[in-house]
Amino acid sequence: MSALDAPASALPGAADTIVAVATPPGRGALSIIRLSGGQSHEIGRAALSRWPDRPRQAVLSEVRDELGQILDQVVVVRYDAPSSFTGEDAIELSTHGGVVVPTTVVAALIARGARMATPGEFTRRAVLNGKLDILQAEATADLIAAGSRAAQRVALQQLDGGLSRRITALREKVLEIEALIAYDIDFPEEDDGPVAPARTLAVLEALESALRGLLATARGGELVREGALAVLAGAPNVGKSSLFNALIGRSRAIVTPIPGTTRDAIEAVIDADPWPIRVVDTAGLRSTTDLVERLGIEVSESYVARAAVVLCCGDDEASLRAATESVRAAQRRRGADENPLIAILTKCDLARDSRIDLSALGGEIGATAAIAVSAESGAGVQRLLMTIGEVLDNTVGLPELDAPVLTQARHQHAVAQALAELEAFRYAWRDERLPATIAAVHLHAAGDALRDLIGGIDTEQVLDEVFRRFCVGK
Ligand code: GDP
Repeated sequence: MSALDAPASALPGAADTIVAVATPPGRGALSIIRLSGGQSHEIGRAALSRWPDRPRQAVLSEVRDELGQILDQVVVVRYDAPSSFTGEDAIELSTHGGVVVPTTVVAALIARGARMATPGEFTRRAVLNGKLDILQAEATADLIAAGSRAAQRVALQQLDGGLSRRITALREKVLEIEALIAYDIDFPEEDDGPVAPARTLAVLEALESALRGLLATARGGELVREGALAVLAGAPNVGKSSLFNALIGRSRAIVTPIPGTTRDAIEAVIDADPWPIRVVDTAGLRSTTDLVERLGIEVSESYVARAAVVLCCGDDEASLRAATESVRAAQRRRGADENPLIAILTKCDLARDSRIDLSALGGEIGATAAIAVSAESGAGVQRLLMTIGEVLDNTVGLPELDAPVLTQARHQHAVAQALAELEAFRYAWRDERLPATIAAVHLHAAGDALRDLIGGIDTEQVLDEVFRRFCVGK
């Protein structure tokens, strides 16, 4: 039996009533405390002075600890199974915010029999009780983590079940082919005869092409979710950090600072339209024997190799040429493709190299575009943002924001596997290389790969992996 078929109570701790503060800690007007599980109503009744008569009714109440001490005035909403987020009996308390009130209220609920929820445990229960599938659960985490409006739109579409419906429809096509083959294998004597191979082949080809189409959304999906990586590269002091700050400061967009992987890289997501851009300021590329600095450069190199676009900076012709050469050398060392490169002449307010023909130089060094900027005056910074967008449009195409998109390696892997199995089936079946019954094993595997993407996963491990990213209270 798969974990998803199993009743929630079959898992360790699944019968417990869980509690958590769903809002972030710290000063704030309100905090939301969630309680879910078989005992949640009993615990709520015991701790609250007033209890809602009906489900989904909001009631102003007082919450007390075991000694009868009032802890807060709260608004309580009652949910009756299965009509709740988790599918279990649940309550939500809106308490006052801050640190002390929510903590003491949670402690009072724990004293009455609840236990602290683990990260993602509410959503996990929602999946186990069939309220959400795994793709939707992932979308919940993506929506919370969204660093841009584009990522928000894609996550909402996935939460709404867009990708799940698409995958389900594709899986039904696999089942249709399986049925055609099965009929073909032992069609009743009195019937019209076997299914014409052309009919099966047409369904198969349409399905393969639909899977290829979905697979093609993976690159854009990843870029939208993570932000398209734009890496600042160049020697020290050419003005990369200043440009990084200018890009962030100039963009009329939401900026999400992300702690860099090391002391040497700072990242921020600029919510540009249509592509969110993840700008990274690195330690720069230069030869050194200093070990710590060397590690910083390793980081730069790995960023440069993965970049959707490299922002090659120099404050004169020589440093710009040197930066480009370092970037190309780094890409070669890493065996990476030559990604698009924008040549950026920095500190243009100083006009030190006024004779420089930037577009000719850009062409010569293989840059897709060449721009002069000044972090000091802001000249060229807006244009640089637009140019990054244009380069991405030209290399990746426009992002799909309102259609189902594959956003994670897990999705890409499953769809690619389904496609490979279908191709293996076609190869074995069409030329009768294998008996149809044996070739059909590939069809079955293709169906399983698609099924596992939505749910029906056999191991707890995959669920653990999906829910690892969640915060407590979700
Ligand atoms: P990085 O080492 O490449 O990150 O370079 P920084 O951003 O730290 O800049 C090095 C020096 O150049 C600093 O003193 C900056 O104030 C200066 N600088 C950076 N950008 C500009 C600019 O656009 N115009 C002028 N005049 N100075 C700049």
